[in-house]
Amino acid sequence: MSIDVLDQAIRRIREHVLAHDLKSISIIFHGGEPLLAGKKFFEYAVPEIKKTLGKVCTVKFGMQSNGVLLDDGWAELLLRLKIGVGISIDGYRELNDQHRLDHRGQSTYHQVVNAIKILSEPEYAEIKGGLLCVIQPDSDPVELLNWFRRFGRIPVDFLFPHFNHERTPPSAFDQNHGYGYGLWLSRVFDHWWGNDVHEIKIRTFEDLMHLMIGGRHAVESYGLSAVQLAVVQTDGAYEAVDSLKSTYDGAVSTAKNIFAHSFNDILSEHLVASRFERFENLSKTCQHCRLVKACGGGYVPHRYHPALGFNSPTVYCRDLMFLIEHIESRLSVRLDEEMRERMRLNLTATPAFFPDREPAVVPSIAE
Ligand code: SF4
Repeated sequence: MSIDVLDQAIRRIREHVLAHDLKSISIIFHGGEPLLAGKKFFEYAVPEIKKTLGKVCTVKFGMQSNGVLLDDGWAELLLRLKIGVGISIDGYRELNDQHRLDHRGQSTYHQVVNAIKILSEPEYAEIKGGLLCVIQPDSDPVELLNWFRRFGRIPVDFLFPHFNHERTPPSAFDQNHGYGYGLWLSRVFDHWWGNDVHEIKIRTFEDLMHLMIGGRHAVESYGLSAVQLAVVQTDGAYEAVDSLKSTYDGAVSTAKNIFAHSFNDILSEHLVASRFERFENLSKTCQHCRLVKACGGGYVPHRYHPALGFNSPTVYCRDLMFLIEHIESRLSVRLDEEMRERMRLNLTATPAFFPDREPAVVPSIAE
């Protein structure tokens, strides 16, 4: 991102903060790979943002990195600028190497693990963010969770890969378990929950449990809370969520940019607006589903259907159904009567929307 684009983005953010009297905002440097912007960019950007916005609101900084470039020098700079860092890694070497090779086709595993080890040093506790792991359903979930434990207390988030109804996941589909991702997650859940693996905070499960007992959560992947997030590309273009690139060419484009338009101007874009009014923009199937308050219809890019657009349950519908019902059954055992009732009332009691669906099979799992 050039300095011109950055300066204009800062002006637009300030305009928006003042117009809406926002007390705090988060700015996330996101890629591609944000460290490729170079240290000089961050040494300019963060003080400039603080200078312009610091008097009108609180600003928190974050970054999602692949960790390849992150060494001691970078860690020191990020700590000085107070930029929290999340690292993307898919697990032990064989898993990570399946999708995270460098541009020469070489493994990045050791560099990424080194980055996590650096951030795990006590002096970096303030900026150590979580790990993002894309699920590979043929991996051993217990082995993977135990592998993550080597990094001590750390949040881990498991993500569904970006498939949709046109480009479906490669694994086999069945009516009870979907593509196997929900079953895989349920096994992670049982190991985590059954063995009190407290040092790992798994956001996927904590968010779902929170939503199941009536909490509100502003996460994009689950639930129905408004998503208050805008993306500015390096050339100044506004985008809807960048993972929409996985659907069709041009899906992310809003045809608006920070030089000609304010942040308010993009609120009318359908894929931005629909993430504010989430329930109203779900398919009828999801609106009538008893799990909708927790599931939220799935992450927007995974709903894409070539004939229906985004007005469809996620391609992972059966996976999420299986997972949420599995967590519900496990939670019910531990909750007291009042909390059980609260969960039952919170998950809406609409008729089952898949009358042909077999009851979910709870897998046998060693606890
Ligand atoms: S489980 Fe399926 S039908 Fe229910 S809200 Fe989620 S995507 Fe929609």
